[in-house]
Amino acid sequence: MNLRIGILTAPQIRWERSSRNGKPTFILHDVRIGIGFHWDRRQTQEFAGELSILRNPNGTQTAINTIDMEDYITSVISSEMSAHSPLELLKAHAVISRSWAVRQCMNNRSQSSSNPSAAMGTSAFESGGHIGFDLCADDHCQRYEGLRSVHPRAEEAVEATRGQVLTYDGEICDTRFYKCCGGKTEIFSTCWENKNVPYLQSVECPYCGRAAERLQRGEQVILDCLQAYDSETLDCHDWQVTYTAQELQAILLEKTGIDFGTIRSLRPIERGASGRISLLEIVGDKRTERIGKELKIRRALSRTCLYSSWFDVEKREDVFILNGHGWGHGVGLCQLGAAEMALEGATCREILCYYYPGAEIANRIA
Ligand SMILES: [Zn+2]
Ligand SMILES: [Zn+2]
Repeated sequence: MNLRIGILTAPQIRWERSSRNGKPTFILHDVRIGIGFHWDRRQTQEFAGELSILRNPNGTQTAINTIDMEDYITSVISSEMSAHSPLELLKAHAVISRSWAVRQCMNNRSQSSSNPSAAMGTSAFESGGHIGFDLCADDHCQRYEGLRSVHPRAEEAVEATRGQVLTYDGEICDTRFYKCCGGKTEIFSTCWENKNVPYLQSVECPYCGRAAERLQRGEQVILDCLQAYDSETLDCHDWQVTYTAQELQAILLEKTGIDFGTIRSLRPIERGASGRISLLEIVGDKRTERIGKELKIRRALSRTCLYSSWFDVEKREDVFILNGHGWGHGVGLCQLGAAEMALEGATCREILCYYYPGAEIANRIA
């Protein structure tokens, strides 16, 4: 199965031909990763497969890489985590990255064929689903950084799980994942539509806490599981953010376009099973508004994006202190927790059954 991955959109794509191990590759410059998050930066990346350049109606160009599914998964698991992680973690990640990609492609391809006019007038990156390609290369879909971090260990993990996906009741699972749950995973409806997804339930996760302790101590085995830019974020399990009322007012104005006046309080109205806030009331002396769900709250309350929406608010005079837990939406597999499970000897199957209760591994993709 071939995938079309949108790598970047720019006024003009800068690229050149190259080769690796005697095979032709291409290099793209100024690829932006972590868009809108705290690790936002640019990289030069090298890719196997084919390059095509899409011209968008607004005059920009999008670089699209057509690549075989298994080669794509090898890169994703090396980009999301690190190819130096324990093999059982890489295998578990290969299964969920493959499941998620297959599901997403099926959804996107059926949507764009039923509504081709949705493509008109928007650039490829502006739409929620993607137009002109199956998946993007950033955290919006899954990280795909080409051949940059690929290592024979990742190829071994992909080979050992070739074609395997996670299923529930015979259907391929929507295998969500994120960096660190903070102690408890979240249910689907706290972050997205109001539906019950049986294998995306809230489970206690003591593992990422232990992984975070290893990170704080600088243990090499856990640093080996992460991309270098992720191991810059040492406080992802328990964190604190402090704002003056004035700073908060300015951030909210910038991120929501609403002038709340002086901020009086931030009041959690609804929380999900882990404690992540899904509806937050912001009280200012000019306006009071409720915002949700999880990602909107994270984006509204930070110049980039808060680590998570699981936080308590403490107010001391005109200073707001957010005491929070976890990094990411918390639904499905906790990457740091899964790394810790693998370091403690868990198998791929045990990791997947823990974070997706009731789901099964099946051989589905030829
Ligand atoms: Zn995407
Ligand atoms: Zn966890």
